[in-house]
Amino acid sequence: MLKLSDCVIENGNFTLHADLCIEPGASVAIIGPSGAGKSTLLETIAGFRSLTQGQIFWQGTEITDLPPGKRPLAMLFQDGNLFPHLTAEQNIALGVRPNGRLSPDEQGEVQTALERVSLAGMSTRKPAELSGGQQSRVALARVLVQRRQVLLLDEPFAALGPALKAEMLDLVADLIEGTGTTLLMISHDPQDARRITDQTILVAEGQAHSPVETTELLDNPPPSLRSYLG
Ligand code: ADP
Repeated sequence: MLKLSDCVIENGNFTLHADLCIEPGASVAIIGPSGAGKSTLLETIAGFRSLTQGQIFWQGTEITDLPPGKRPLAMLFQDGNLFPHLTAEQNIALGVRPNGRLSPDEQGEVQTALERVSLAGMSTRKPAELSGGQQSRVALARVLVQRRQVLLLDEPFAALGPALKAEMLDLVADLIEGTGTTLLMISHDPQDARRITDQTILVAEGQAHSPVETTELLDNPPPSLRSYLG
């Protein structure tokens, strides 16, 4: 399980408290008002921010002070973070090895990932030659080949429009099904949470709350969430 034990996270003058556990293999949404600390929470779990207080554990091992690359997780950012001068295939290869020099087996893995995100015929295109949705698929393939136990998504498909976003969310759910991957996904849209997560963490008023059932939370929102949902 992913455990945040009595954590205090500071970002400028902002302070967020988190004391919660996430079961391995769970799909968990992170929702809450803008500026409530959702990204701050995810960046801390990923290792891009340090804690002021507390500890983080994965499967009983403390990861509080591990650098991002040594943690058992992969993060998909809002803009996908693709390298513009590299092809789809080369961008994905960087997920397998940071130097991009792959063995034949590893090259096979990249081809499989391209197929799974339906981009097999576009492996030699650069990001500028791909649509926004296709770029998102490359970014998703790159985190998949990392084969990490925890996948962190920071509203990665927000720029795609509703239909394409729904398609990408379904693809994420499909791709991790049966792998045991734990998914944590920030979204400002409660429909995204309903679509692919079982549980939701509410971040509001300086606190990241323990995950609760998504449907229950959204059907009976507490006041801090009700005012945000409108
Ligand atoms: P969310 O993802 O929920 O919109 P963030 O985690 O991005 O919220 O931000 C949480 C709070 O952290 C903000 O309300 C702001 O007070 C503070 N914050 C975010 N980014 C910065 C920054 N670059 N400098 C100082 N404070 C920041």
